[in-house]
Amino acid sequence: MEYKITVIPGDGIGPEIIAETKKVLNQIGRKYHHHFSYTEVLMGGASIDAYGVPLTEDALNIARQSDSVLLGAVGGNVGQSNWYSLPPHLRPEAGLLALRKGLNLFTNIRPAILFDALKEACPLKQEIVGDGFDFVVIRELTGGLYFGERKTFEENGIRKAIDTLVYDENEIRRIARWAFEIARKRKKRVCSVDKANVLDSSRLWRQVTEEVARDYPDVELSHMLVDNCAMQLVKNPGQFDVILTENMFGDILSDEASMITGSIGMLSSASLGDTKLGLYEPSHGSAPDIAGQDKANPIATILSAAMMLRYSFGLEKEADAIENAIKKVLDKGYRTQDIMSEGKKLVGTSKMGDLIGAEL
Ligand code: NAD
Repeated sequence: MEYKITVIPGDGIGPEIIAETKKVLNQIGRKYHHHFSYTEVLMGGASIDAYGVPLTEDALNIARQSDSVLLGAVGGNVGQSNWYSLPPHLRPEAGLLALRKGLNLFTNIRPAILFDALKEACPLKQEIVGDGFDFVVIRELTGGLYFGERKTFEENGIRKAIDTLVYDENEIRRIARWAFEIARKRKKRVCSVDKANVLDSSRLWRQVTEEVARDYPDVELSHMLVDNCAMQLVKNPGQFDVILTENMFGDILSDEASMITGSIGMLSSASLGDTKLGLYEPSHGSAPDIAGQDKANPIATILSAAMMLRYSFGLEKEADAIENAIKKVLDKGYRTQDIMSEGKKLVGTSKMGDLIGAEL
């Protein structure tokens, strides 16, 4: 089968980690008889340099017409690069927002996996980590407090600011469906996180997730208040499978979840909408401090490609194969500098890609 992938290398380490990810995808293609075709487009600083804008309409259209989008990272050194003297809507990161909006991506999925071989990188105590953890945070991306009406004004000489948190039942239903669908491919447990003891929007969130749950009798639904969830993530992260939550809670909890895995170069992410077309990218940025030095860890991007195979293309065993190959390479002691520890074998970006490809 042929899959059309729009590839956006971006800036900084983006082109290096994308090159390694394509190596791994091509190896999967050879082994399982799929054909991945790539159309490269520019975004971020690279697009500003070429066209004066961080994302052209042409690039967005190419992305829209493909089966999925694979992104490296965008952005430069904020203190030094000329890109940051431009108005905010013309800076590199504006390309990313335009792409998410243009593809109508309302679901963000961020896995938090603690690989056995990297347990020492986890900032939590060994007795808390136990056998490790493997859960995903599913965050609503286009509604809630960040998109509601807001204003700042003065009343009787006092400055006031208002933000509004709005969700309608359709917005909640469509993301809840993604959470249950994803749980079905995992351990079949959804924990919906809200603040239903205080917020009306959370009470509606709870009602609608319960309605959706009726269509998924094989998946267990539980509810947790967001303040408790923030505690449970550092007290007993192994209890979670799929965490479903709204935009602002998800913003905070997904960062907390990333931190407890201990290594930014290992964190993948996916954004999805109403169709199978998704945007797959590492959670980290363009790391200009190590760009072009063969030092970047390509694993987050390679894991993002595995998510693309699983969620956009339905290629479950191919996705498993990539994840297992990464585990094997780590078990054999190979490390890029960001996850290096004593007694392990230091390798560069390109070698790490070769090793993962060879394990497939
Ligand atoms: P960053 O994630 O790029 O880097 C933070 C630190 O982590 C740096 O020391 C970097 O060397 C290291 N690091 C990041 N990814 C790594 C990898 N794969 N392997 C090894 N080390 C890695 O964050 P930052 O420095 O705050 O931002 C740099 C630029 O990236 C900025 O322009 C920022 O706006 C942009 N950014 C882009 C995205 C995106 O494209 N989605 C996300 C975050 C930041």
